[in-house]
Amino acid sequence: MSITDQIQKVRSEFRTDLANLSSENEAVDQIRIKYLGRKGLVATLFVEMGRVDTDERPKMGKILNELKSEITLEIDGFSTADLKLTDTDASDVDFTLPGDPIPVGSIHPLTQVMEEIKSIFLKLGFSLVYGPEIDTEFYNFEALNIPKHHPARDMQDTFYISDEVLLRTHTSDTQIHFMENNTPPVRIIAPGRVYRNEDVSVRSYCLFHQIEGLYVDKTVTFAELKGTLDYFARELFGKDVKTRFRPSYFPFTEPSAEMDVSCIFCKGKGCSICKKTGWLEILGCGMVDPEVYKSVKYDPDKWTGYAFGLGIERIAMLKYGVQDIRLFYSGDIRFLRQF
Ligand SMILES: [Zn+2]
Repeated sequence: MSITDQIQKVRSEFRTDLANLSSENEAVDQIRIKYLGRKGLVATLFVEMGRVDTDERPKMGKILNELKSEITLEIDGFSTADLKLTDTDASDVDFTLPGDPIPVGSIHPLTQVMEEIKSIFLKLGFSLVYGPEIDTEFYNFEALNIPKHHPARDMQDTFYISDEVLLRTHTSDTQIHFMENNTPPVRIIAPGRVYRNEDVSVRSYCLFHQIEGLYVDKTVTFAELKGTLDYFARELFGKDVKTRFRPSYFPFTEPSAEMDVSCIFCKGKGCSICKKTGWLEILGCGMVDPEVYKSVKYDPDKWTGYAFGLGIERIAMLKYGVQDIRLFYSGDIRFLRQF
C-alpha cells in the first residue's frame, strides 16, 4: 500500500472513530492515544516516510503533517466543547455552585448620620456649602466675634500651621466665606470635619464632624429658629420627641441657646444615658450677633438671621449607643460591620 493510501486510510478510520466518539473523557483520551500517541497511527506513518523516495518525501511530509494537525484540532475541539456543554459529570468543576462571596462594605456610621441630617435640611430649602479645613484666624475666630485673648479661644484650642493659619475648630468659617461672597437671603448648611487640640478620651478626639446652619433674611425671628429645629428633631428622632431651649452663650450669636430633646431611650422618664434628667443635649443655636454681620459687610440694621451647629459624633453615639468616640476613627472592621 502506498504512503498516500495509508494516510487516506488513517484519515477515514479517524473520521469513523470521531463519529462514534462518546462524550466520556476516557473515550476522548483513548482516541488521542490511538492516533497521536508515541506509538499511535500518525507516528507509525512518520516512520513509513523513511521508505518514501527522496524527491517525493517533502510532498508526502506535508500531507502527513496536515493530517496530524487535523486530528489534533478535532480531538482538542471535541474535549473543549464536551467540557462546556455536556460532560459536567466527569469534570471536577461544578458550574452550578455559587461563586465565592465578594465582601461588601458598609457606609460609615458618621457618613450615614451626616447624610440623614443633610437630607432633612435640604428638604427645608437649605443649600449645601463646603469650606476649607485649613483656614486663617480671621475666618475661624475674628470674623465670628472671637478676638485674640477671648476666653472662647481656650475652649477651642487647635493646631496651628503658622501664627495666622490653623485647622478650623468649627464649620462656622464656611458661613463667613459664604456671606463674604453672597448677599442675603442666605440659607445654607455647612457640613465638614473640624479639629480641636484636646486630650483623646472616650468622649473627645482631636477631630470630629459638624454640621452648621445659617439663615439670614429681612425678618428672621427666634420663633422661626425654634420651629425649624423642632421639626428637625422630630424628623431625626421620631414624631414623639419633645424639644426645649435653654439659654446659653456663644460669641457669634445673641441671644444663644442649647436645644435638648426628650431622652430617646427612656422617653423622658430619666435613665443613665440622660443622667436621670429625661433630656439630651443636641445642639447650640442662636440669633446671629450683629458683630458677625459687620465682618462680612452686611448691614446689621437691615438683616437678621439665626445659626445653629451640631456635632455628628454626638448624634451618632446617641443613635447607635456607641460609648467610645475613638471607635469611629479606628477603622476596626468588626465595629464598622455593625452598621
Ligand atoms: Zn433617658
